[in-house]
Amino acid sequence: MKPDAALDYEVIVIGAGVAGIYMIKRLTDLGIRATVLEGEADIGGTWYKNRYPGARFDSESYTYGYSFSKSLLDGWDWKEHFSPQPHTLEYLNYVVDTFGLRAHMQFGTRVERAHFDDAGSFWRLSLGDGRVLVARFVVMAVGLLSTPTLPRIPGREDFKGQAFHTFHWPQEPVALAGKRVAVIGTGATAIQLIPEVAKQAARLTVYQRRPNWAAPLNNRPIPPSEMTEIRARYDEIFAQCERSPYGFVHEPDRRGFYEVPREERIKLWDRLYDEPGFAIWLANFREIFSDEAANAELSEYIAMRIRQRVKNPELAEKLIPRDHGFGVQRVPMESGYFEAYNRDNVDLVDISETPIDRITERGIRTVEHRIDGTEVWHEREFDIIVYATGFDAITGAFDHIDIRGTDGEALREKWRDGPTTFLGMMIHGYPNLLMPNGPQSGSASTNYPRGIEVGVDWCTRLLEHMHARGLERAEATEAAEAHWSTHVADMYQKLLMRKAKSWFTGYNSNVDGHEAGRIRYFVYNGGMPKYRSVIAEVAANGYEGIMFTGVQNHAEA
Ligand code: NAP
Repeated sequence: MKPDAALDYEVIVIGAGVAGIYMIKRLTDLGIRATVLEGEADIGGTWYKNRYPGARFDSESYTYGYSFSKSLLDGWDWKEHFSPQPHTLEYLNYVVDTFGLRAHMQFGTRVERAHFDDAGSFWRLSLGDGRVLVARFVVMAVGLLSTPTLPRIPGREDFKGQAFHTFHWPQEPVALAGKRVAVIGTGATAIQLIPEVAKQAARLTVYQRRPNWAAPLNNRPIPPSEMTEIRARYDEIFAQCERSPYGFVHEPDRRGFYEVPREERIKLWDRLYDEPGFAIWLANFREIFSDEAANAELSEYIAMRIRQRVKNPELAEKLIPRDHGFGVQRVPMESGYFEAYNRDNVDLVDISETPIDRITERGIRTVEHRIDGTEVWHEREFDIIVYATGFDAITGAFDHIDIRGTDGEALREKWRDGPTTFLGMMIHGYPNLLMPNGPQSGSASTNYPRGIEVGVDWCTRLLEHMHARGLERAEATEAAEAHWSTHVADMYQKLLMRKAKSWFTGYNSNVDGHEAGRIRYFVYNGGMPKYRSVIAEVAANGYEGIMFTGVQNHAEA
């Protein structure tokens, strides 16, 4: 066992986003020698990177802030119910500066390899700048949607205009006025972006492979008087988030779908559709997630609302999903998305009918396969192409680091067919590797900060437990990991989500092995209250499922 004094740090945290910031706060409060390694030039993670116009919370702002410090809550005013990216990044800077956390962070520092030294019980991290750091523990705070993916369309490099993924939207303002812009993709990101680009660009062409259900965000400003009222209710708001399955202020309607007469169901949906945030998704009947007929009825209702909003009936039909029901994929929230298609400067190209054949020097070429067997090409010219094509979700950021455990096996090999974990926070064969918001954890399917605080607190308490007992090594047992991963997989069986082509099930057509039909059990679907009680019980039972080793004799404790 390598002595502590020979380590560079006791704990290295990878990532300075929402999870990494809170993790380093807890560690430094305990006087633990720790650092955060961040590949980007500054803090913020997802909120540092996603600078595309329209990027904002889909969570109510006042449920997204950290809840652990009253003075932090007292010192910050949210300006909108759903905060836009620049203000959110300002918030995270406010947190970091308030607690002087930047002093414990190293920027522009990308971790390339993390190898566990079995004999010495420590992690050796090789960095992009050539340094090697050793630490007893590594905390993965690498983000769940932080590895963008580009479509495998020939000719991408040929395009002579500006082209970027939404995740890499340039920091300096992009001049959209007078430009011909293409957006490829219609996920949550594109659905925020499209109305904003439509307002500025000369021409916007959206390339849609599959439409996505979306519903109004109903954002509005928070005047100072309302912020005072929100501040007075913080305890109540966070208690409500704790009670609700996914960490939001929205709680499901617990009446049985079929016990409520149809007219009343419609009345409820009329109300929820006009409410802010995820109400229409998460304050709905629980059956919409598991019962085909209930889901179909809600989907038909949402389709009707889309038809009301899109003037061209043919176009409206193209914007209505047919291959999945409302809410079985993550519902994008929108601010004038459907109305954007009523503008004269916006076109939709349905690439399920006329696929993209290639990117050219000047734009995008689609091909139409006619019934008579002939093919017709159509090239549209652009100044800017935006790829809103999503992420190698949940495990992508892990796969980008060469992580090797006790027997030298690469984590990306172990997880080739999908992740297996203990509580989403530990991995058998990878001792002292902690994931406060890892795959299969409660936070992966929750209002992130609400889940992240739970995960970070649990990991911190585990470290305290070990410290108090002179334990230097913790590893999930094979049995505990198998049990948890089976439990996570079992929960998918009840949900319509399992059939959806979405990142919740590991689908990404741009990543090998992530094709539809090869389901990956990425998220814990039992809800945060249950997750919290399970992980608390594990801790109360002396961390059942975790094998500890002590300092002096390597004996199992
Ligand atoms: P996404 O939901 O995975 O959507 C990607 C889009 O790109 C889909 O429309 C997809 O079409 C399309 N696409 C991918 N590859 C393509 C290809 N080769 N050719 C043509 N089209 C292609 O990604 P996202 O919109 O970035 O959102 C990901 C997640 O980020 C969201 O679900 C959400 O959790 C999070 N997010 C959160 C917020 C927020 O909280 N405010 C905002 C934005 C995003 P198919 O559907 O056919 O695959």
